[in-house]
Amino acid sequence: MSTTLRALQADITTLAVDAIVNAANTTLLGGGGVDGAVHRAAGPELLEECRKLGGCRTGDAKLTKGYRLPAKFIIHTVGPVWRGGVNGEPELLASCYSRSIEVAAGAEAQTLAFPSISTGVYGYPIQEAAEIAVATVRSSLRKFTAIREVIFCCFSATDLKVYERLV
Ligand code: ADP
Repeated sequence: MSTTLRALQADITTLAVDAIVNAANTTLLGGGGVDGAVHRAAGPELLEECRKLGGCRTGDAKLTKGYRLPAKFIIHTVGPVWRGGVNGEPELLASCYSRSIEVAAGAEAQTLAFPSISTGVYGYPIQEAAEIAVATVRSSLRKFTAIREVIFCCFSATDLKVYERLV
């Protein structure tokens, strides 16, 4: 069975998928951008669960419940901060996508939505980041065939154009 990949423009906290991915920071205790939106929408129980996780390394991913979100689960991953691209950023960003797919499969999620990890405050150039996102998701899905749909959830119309050319 093949997986559907698609890009759409939305607030990721509104999506009724099995799991959404959050672009968090290493503390997992909340922040700005998509992380702030996820914590606001999920409610304070999310922070309580996150406190017990002991943080998350860059490139890794951890699972929580979705609480007040329509999504059942949240996969918190930590993208690299862009520092010119020669400090392991591409490998770390790819690892965010592959680890998130692995965690999603472990939770038996069949539908999954990603934000554009690292391309906000962390400054990763959108074109490069989107290429890594789509290529890594495609190759990871070969191992995790129970995942039926992956959505690249773009916040802006310009990001959506970039992802639409790739999926
Ligand atoms: P990072 O620190 O990993 O760069 P940001 O949250 O600053 O994370 O940005 C990552 C991406 O998420 C950016 O493209 C930003 O526009 C987008 N974004 C911000 N809020 C939301 C939201 N509610 N839903 C989906 N994407 C969002």
